Amino acid sequence: MTQNLINAIEKSKRIKMSVRYLGQRQYLVITPANHQYTVRFETQEGLRYGRCTCKAGAKGLACYHLPKAALVDTAIQQMSGH
Ligand SMILES: [Zn+2]
Repeated sequence: MTQNLINAIEKSKRIKMSVRYLGQRQYLVITPANHQYTVRFETQEGLRYGRCTCKAGAKGLACYHLPKAALVDTAIQQMSGH
């Protein structure tokens, strides 16, 4: 894991965000400052890839919205039997 990703995961644990499932593996992440970003996931060859619409995500960097949405995505994938 890169330091960037480790920092993103740590930050996602500290900050309370709400995540809403939009369907088609898309999630709306709402920050305490009421910023809203959409995170999309796809699985390729067994690996999960995520993209976020925030500034960091647009540059291809790991952001703290992604790990938060990933927790919900994991739960939903498990519930739907994937
Ligand atoms: Zn983001």
